[in-house]
Amino acid sequence: MREPFVAGNWKMNTDGPSSMDLAERIALESVGIANQSVTVAVCPPFVYLQAVVKVLKSSSIAVGAQNSYFEPKGAFTGEISISMLKDIGCTYCLCGHSERRHVIGETDGLINQKVIAAINGGLLPILCVGELLAEREASKTEEVVTRHVKKGLAGLSAEKVSAVTIAYEPVWAIGTGLTATPQQAQEVHDFIRKLLGQMYDEKLAEEIRIQYGGSVKPDNAEELMSKKDVDGLLVGGASLKADDFIAIIRAAI
Ligand code: PEP
Repeated sequence: MREPFVAGNWKMNTDGPSSMDLAERIALESVGIANQSVTVAVCPPFVYLQAVVKVLKSSSIAVGAQNSYFEPKGAFTGEISISMLKDIGCTYCLCGHSERRHVIGETDGLINQKVIAAINGGLLPILCVGELLAEREASKTEEVVTRHVKKGLAGLSAEKVSAVTIAYEPVWAIGTGLTATPQQAQEVHDFIRKLLGQMYDEKLAEEIRIQYGGSVKPDNAEELMSKKDVDGLLVGGASLKADDFIAIIRAAI
């Protein structure tokens, strides 16, 4: 059985007071789900990570970073290492979010280095994969997802890959209000699981969690989660409202 995993990606949206307010509200509301079998994490902007870790310390909610760098230390101005993130209490790290691929220009090779560094440094990576609208319309979804998964996990043993969560995030559904239908999500999740089975083994493929992300809201979360291979949700916009985020977590349980 794969425990549902809901993560909130705050992106570059909160300031100090709103980060604290959001974290406090989520901590308060999360009391009601404390004994449930669900993994929950929030990914605030770097500068508020430490403060959010402090607020969520006695809750069951974990904290993740939205990005990291793969080198352990040195002359890499502006970058943040895995050990720094571990040091302040992070558990997860997003790798290859579509905004980092398509806005910042991260390559599959760089994302792979980040996934490897995260695992070796004791953080749990969430590897984001997914096609652009033009790629879906050209029937290239499977080709793109295969490339993102294979290149993102290159060089890793099955044992190491067991630390990874995959997030399938069709780029055309992120922040657009368009959501993949539950059937579309299930088809790609099933494809990714079979791919992992071919790359590693059936056991790993059955155990690894695959989140769906792309305009998840309280009113579509339950239907998405009803699909066999949808094990969790990566939530952007709706994770900025505590009530919506908690409603999504409840829908995922
Ligand atoms: C995301 O940022 O990963 C995301 C899925 O955003 P949204 O939920 O706003 O589409």
